[in-house]
Amino acid sequence: MDYSKIYINGKWVKPLTDQMIPVENPATREIIARVPSGSKEDVDAAIAAAAEAFAPWREVPMEKKIALFEKALEIFSSYQAELLDLEIKELGAPINWAKKAHILGPIKRFEHYVKIAKDFEFSLDLPRSRVEKEPYGVVACLTPWNYPLGQIMHKIIPAMLVGNTVVLKPSQNTPLTAYYLCQAFQEAGLPPGVLNMVTGEGAKVGSYFTLSPFVSMVSFTGSTLAGKQVAKQSLDTLKKFTLELGGKSPLILLRGGDVEQGVKAAMDSVFYNTGQTCAAFTRLLVPNEFLKEAEEAAKKFYGQYTVGDPTKEETHIGPLVSKSQFNKVRDYIKSGIVQGADMIIGEVPEDDSNGYFVKPVVFSRVDTSMKIAQDEIFGPVLSIMPYNTEEEAIQIANDTIYGLSSGIIGPVQDAERLSKYIKAGDVYINAGKWDPNAPFGGFKQSGIGREGGYFGMEEFVQLKTIYDK
Ligand code: NAD
Repeated sequence: MDYSKIYINGKWVKPLTDQMIPVENPATREIIARVPSGSKEDVDAAIAAAAEAFAPWREVPMEKKIALFEKALEIFSSYQAELLDLEIKELGAPINWAKKAHILGPIKRFEHYVKIAKDFEFSLDLPRSRVEKEPYGVVACLTPWNYPLGQIMHKIIPAMLVGNTVVLKPSQNTPLTAYYLCQAFQEAGLPPGVLNMVTGEGAKVGSYFTLSPFVSMVSFTGSTLAGKQVAKQSLDTLKKFTLELGGKSPLILLRGGDVEQGVKAAMDSVFYNTGQTCAAFTRLLVPNEFLKEAEEAAKKFYGQYTVGDPTKEETHIGPLVSKSQFNKVRDYIKSGIVQGADMIIGEVPEDDSNGYFVKPVVFSRVDTSMKIAQDEIFGPVLSIMPYNTEEEAIQIANDTIYGLSSGIIGPVQDAERLSKYIKAGDVYINAGKWDPNAPFGGFKQSGIGREGGYFGMEEFVQLKTIYDK
């Protein structure tokens, strides 16, 4: 793959810039590739191609779109070995986890949107009118590094299937697998301009997308801070935006719940992907009298999370993605100690000369005044927080600026009753499993809009009422 190019109007082209961004393997600190740091001219060219492709693309019948996407999916799936190698190298994802979460997961997501598109209702009859669902036009898709392909699938597949054209900007940390996705669409015969990709660094290149009057919608996934900038800039031309942002999700263990089940669920959720999961249960709320038992359970399970070389089958936890993440997570661990939390497992990482590895950390006796209880750390750091009453548990659960995900472990009736009071986009009860048909997205400062299934697809259409009765 030639990573020195960008993808515009159905072709791999040289960017109008000499500036390149190094892509680092966080497990070895080797530079594995360089991608262009896209200029305004590059972004404008991509947007212009997408704008021109919009009118003919929206006329292509859904059956033809689906046939084309099925072909692209087949081609993309044939690259699995290369994709796996890249996610191990650009993200540091351990091989078994990478296969499941970063390769097969995104492929299934792609497949699922194609399936939904087959029955997507573009027209709705009302007693005295008809509502048509129309694409917006050019959609800019800005994605993060923590689930590189998964986040891209959530955006570009539904956006194009309902008739929009797309300009994608993947994260500068993990841009490489997106090249293969563009390649698959090119080989499948997607009309030129329907999908375009410019690489580049966030705030530097971001405003070219958000301020452009030729972009009709911005679909953004990333940090709450950057999301606010994206929203402010999008308002300049009143374009539609969706924001999938940060989280600090609580898992509440109720009296009558299985303590070990709760502790294991929290540890799995916050340690896999090296804690770099937006919806991870980073706060485990435990009734006071079960605190000791929860701490013992955490110590019991800790040995299961092997940190090390992501190319090895036995590794569960790879490095953090970058030096800046390493420094950020280290500083949060230090702040937990300084603010009086009890670090029952783990250590402060100091040496990053052989990769950005951090041993998982469990803090106990954390209270809401601490930074580790409030901020999104985005590393393998779990906070156990004691509570007395159910009311107090709900108050602690809701006491952050975020509201992305949540969970409750305990008697089903109690969990169902309390789920109403948690301010979050979803509530997992006991062994509740993720559903690809369900909407995903945040309350409060975790975002605006939803991704996933039919609800996610609906974000990419606008409504037009026809009065013809
Ligand atoms: P980030 O905000 O730094 O960057 C996200 C993307 O936006 C990147 O492509 C980046 O280059 C670009 N960007 C950054 N600043 C921009 C700006 N001002 N204008 C336009 N584009 C800009 O986030 P990140 O560090 O890549 O990802 C981690 C964050 O993403 C975490 O906060 C995590 O919770 C969040 N996230 C949320 C979800 C969700 O669905 N809610 C999913 C995954 C990740």
